[in-house]
Amino acid sequence: MQFLILMLLLAGCEESRDDSDTTAPSPEGEPAPVEHVLVVGAGMAGLTAARALHEDGVNVTVLEARDRLGGRVWTEDVGGASIELGAWFFHGVQGSPLSDFSDAQGIAYAPYSLLSTGMVWDEASASRVNPFETGVMETALVRFLRELDELRAELGDSADTHSGIGVWLDQQGWEGRDRRLAQYTIEQVMVEVGGAGPSDNTSLEWLFEGVGLSGGDHVPVGGFETVVDAMAQGLTIELEQVVERVKVNDDGVEVVTTTGEIWSGSHVLVTVPVGVLKSGAIVFEPPLPEEKAAAIERLDMGNVERVVVRFEEQWWSPGDLLFVSEAQDGRFPFVVDFTADTGVPTLVAFYGGRYARALQATQSDEEIVADLVGLLEQVHGGPAPSPIAHKVTHWSTDPYALGSYSYIPVGASSEDFGLLAEPVGERLLFAGEATSFDHYQTVHGAMFTGLREARRLGVTQTRVPGLEEW
Ligand SMILES: Cc1cc2nc3c(=O)[nH]c(=O)nc-3n(C[C@H](O)[C@H](O)[C@H](O)COP(=O)(O)OP(=O)(O)OC[C@H]3O[C@@H](n4cnc5c(N)ncnc54)[C@H](O)[C@@H]3O)c2cc1C
Repeated sequence: MQFLILMLLLAGCEESRDDSDTTAPSPEGEPAPVEHVLVVGAGMAGLTAARALHEDGVNVTVLEARDRLGGRVWTEDVGGASIELGAWFFHGVQGSPLSDFSDAQGIAYAPYSLLSTGMVWDEASASRVNPFETGVMETALVRFLRELDELRAELGDSADTHSGIGVWLDQQGWEGRDRRLAQYTIEQVMVEVGGAGPSDNTSLEWLFEGVGLSGGDHVPVGGFETVVDAMAQGLTIELEQVVERVKVNDDGVEVVTTTGEIWSGSHVLVTVPVGVLKSGAIVFEPPLPEEKAAAIERLDMGNVERVVVRFEEQWWSPGDLLFVSEAQDGRFPFVVDFTADTGVPTLVAFYGGRYARALQATQSDEEIVADLVGLLEQVHGGPAPSPIAHKVTHWSTDPYALGSYSYIPVGASSEDFGLLAEPVGERLLFAGEATSFDHYQTVHGAMFTGLREARRLGVTQTRVPGLEEW
């Protein structure tokens, strides 16, 4: 999230495991021994938990629906360019299990800023936004963040962010083009791409609350998949296992897949995204407690999508672009030039929130790409060659994600993350980015939750290289 805010400013321990204090006591008073843990999901939460347990001598099997590891971390080759289709940044590197782990693995990461070459284009007037106006955008963002608490106090905890921004813009007395630029900056880029939720359903009360890490945004030099592959070392992982039923009884757990395979264990750690839990694609027996089910109902997944277009030659002026769409609808709020990063002429457009939901429901990939190329032609004043390769992400409809990452809708609160994290009895546990209010929406947050559940299952000292202090 943080990079968006920046952009818009335009400028071997040997302790043995001790099962006696691992889990809450069973009704008989003795905790169930942690013999075989089934981990559902090979994203960073599941892999981190599995690795911590594995290094502690626990028998672990990871069951993953896809034919690849990483979940919402996905590095893909698009026409010869290595592109992140999911997580892109280490959001902060101080006090982060992600950077500590990467350091220990020799995975380099470099600071990244979109500031230097950003050019803002106003679609309505088909003109470049001048430096004075980018100053207006900067001021709007800084002032909005500074006055957010006051606005919340005024509008109460049931206000949505779209209405809040409208009230605030009225109070500033901003009209016309200045107002449009300010609204675009706050609503499209910061709220709908950064926060991912539709702004008219994003809680103003909880907007950008949570704990961020310091140290700035960084990108892993060899791609995010290097972190995933390093974490998966030594683990037993079964791919293409779509879990549809999780049964828990006094003697253990059973996990059933859509092809009828049954996996048995002593404990199960479910790490699927909250979108999957909401969809009911996994049936729990017995059903989840009412409080937990209600929290799942209240939380939601936001939408952030990317459109990658690879050209034969770089026909545009190098640099990133921010688009202010005429209708304030969030159509491609910004486009990043990846040519220098990947060594091949490539642009990546981002969009989120309401527009992402609408666009994906109504347009084909080819139409989305044509729309983007049309905008690029407007900016660069001439016909564009056809892309030689493209990739449009579909996190919103991906059955194993059903959105990009969690956000806090009106009616939900920080407590819902805690309710989602609560184990059910001693054998059924939960991890994943949406189980951490402090670090939701992030990879390091997913790792925190994996480590938390490994501890709950008795890992008193993490032995994963780089994570010994966690
Ligand atoms: C477009 C986008 C951009 C992002 N940008 C950033 C960023 O720059 N920095 C950052 O820190 N974070 C970013 N994030 C968020 C980050 O990717 C996630 O917070 C993190 O990867 C979540 O990890 P997880 O293990 O909780 O969930 P996931 O990675 O989703 O892992 C859950 C796993 O469960 C599997 N699964 C689902 N259903 C089933 C089933 N029925 N049976 C078996 N397996 C199943 C899934 O396939 C998946 O592999 C971004 C995410 C997206 C989508």
